[in-house]
Amino acid sequence: MNYFSSRNRTVTASPSQAILEGLASDGGLYVPEAIPQFENNWDTLAKFTYQEMAFYVLKPFLSDFSDEALHKCIQEAYDEKFDTASIAPLVKVGENYHLELFHGATIAFKDMALSILPHLMSESAKIQDNTNDIVILTATSGDTGKAAMAGFADVPHTQIIVFYPKGGVSSIQERQMLTQKGDNTAVVAIHGNFDDAQTEVKRLFNDESLRETLALEGKQFSSANSMNIGRLLPQVVYYYYAYAQLVAEGAIQAGDRINVTVPTGNFGNILAAYYAKQTGLPIDRLVCASNDNTVLYDFFQSGQYNRNRPFELTISPSMDILVSSNFERLLFHALDEDTDRVASLMQQLEDAGVYEVDAQEKVNFEDFVGAYASEDETRGEIKEVYEATDYVMDPHTAVASKAYRKARVQGEIDPNLASVIVSTASPYKFPEAVLNALDINTDALNDEGLLKELKKITNIPYPEAINEAMTGEIRHDKVIEVQDMKETVLDIIRG
Ligand SMILES: *Cc1c(COP(=O)(O)O)cnc(C)c1O
Repeated sequence: MNYFSSRNRTVTASPSQAILEGLASDGGLYVPEAIPQFENNWDTLAKFTYQEMAFYVLKPFLSDFSDEALHKCIQEAYDEKFDTASIAPLVKVGENYHLELFHGATIAFKDMALSILPHLMSESAKIQDNTNDIVILTATSGDTGKAAMAGFADVPHTQIIVFYPKGGVSSIQERQMLTQKGDNTAVVAIHGNFDDAQTEVKRLFNDESLRETLALEGKQFSSANSMNIGRLLPQVVYYYYAYAQLVAEGAIQAGDRINVTVPTGNFGNILAAYYAKQTGLPIDRLVCASNDNTVLYDFFQSGQYNRNRPFELTISPSMDILVSSNFERLLFHALDEDTDRVASLMQQLEDAGVYEVDAQEKVNFEDFVGAYASEDETRGEIKEVYEATDYVMDPHTAVASKAYRKARVQGEIDPNLASVIVSTASPYKFPEAVLNALDINTDALNDEGLLKELKKITNIPYPEAINEAMTGEIRHDKVIEVQDMKETVLDIIRG
């Protein structure tokens, strides 16, 4: 199993190379040369632990990893860092099944992949006989940064630098990042939004002079962003695990189709669901849920991707995005793996901020339904679901829950199929937005007050991540302009 660039078939990499490099050298994203087809004996799979399912799903994609090495990566990733042995529990809420992906170190779904990525990277370095230190450079809209740092902190021969938009993340998210321990971690705020940070990070990755300077220091860049296949592939696992749980509970028969709704930002999580479907998991439609940043919704309506629009700050900040990087992989697969076509569309996006697929091409995106929830709809959904079921959703999950309902009302999905809502964050990560949605006045409350109030309502004890953020020492305080990111990276690398 090899990978090549979504923009050029001759730029190839083995799995371990692709994990180390992150992005392909031409700026494209690594895609599998062929998607493996799974037999899926559900009698067996329904009994698998999360770790067993991870091995089953990852093995064919990571062909140059030995069985032993892959088992070791999985064991080190999915352990007591998670507060439940099932790692990704499936919870019935009303008529839907919520796949809770927030039981890891930072109580959001990015822990699912970022707990294993550092181990996949150090194993990849071994496979490649690579002795360079790995420098992780990443832009975050809140969750990735912290989850990546938690994964990489004090992992030997690695260093991690995280940029985030000042004012673009929740106060708890910011505290979580600024209290991050580990001598190899750095967190820097920028004046700008997430896309500014991400665009500059992408540019720095391809900056030849910066790469050369790094090489002289015995270091090399890699990406912990969701463009790395080491982020993407571990996310395929929990779709299998969710389906297995539905079969085990008797909620569906093996082979029945299900609908999956994913609150979407950079398009990594939902792309993993698409890959799950491509390998043979019986998924009917994939509902791509957006907030007021409706760039993906608009694409699924019209076939036009247009980033020339205002950037909306919402109560689901991890979905505030104009350029969804992983969407390029879907383009590749939906456009019959035509790398020239993908390269040309990506060039149009860079030059003019817009591209369009034609009517014939548009048909190939029918696995997906675009739907969105406005801010008011999101708050309304948190309240309605709480009142009906006592279940408290975070705003990202609420966007998905509402989007699913809208798609269902509009007749775009089969209402008779089991519905999985991907639940991407604990409500404790966004207490203010959640309390406001429940009509609780938060004006006089500081972070601690907010958390206490939320605890009264949910009856769930504070996750360890919250205790740490509230009591940890602030260790990072830099705020810079976007144009100073390169200098800052150099400073940090030279120590
Ligand atoms: C990152 C994130 C998302 C969006 O996931 P993508 O893979 O970027 O589409 C949704 N919800 C939460 C809580 C997140 O942290």
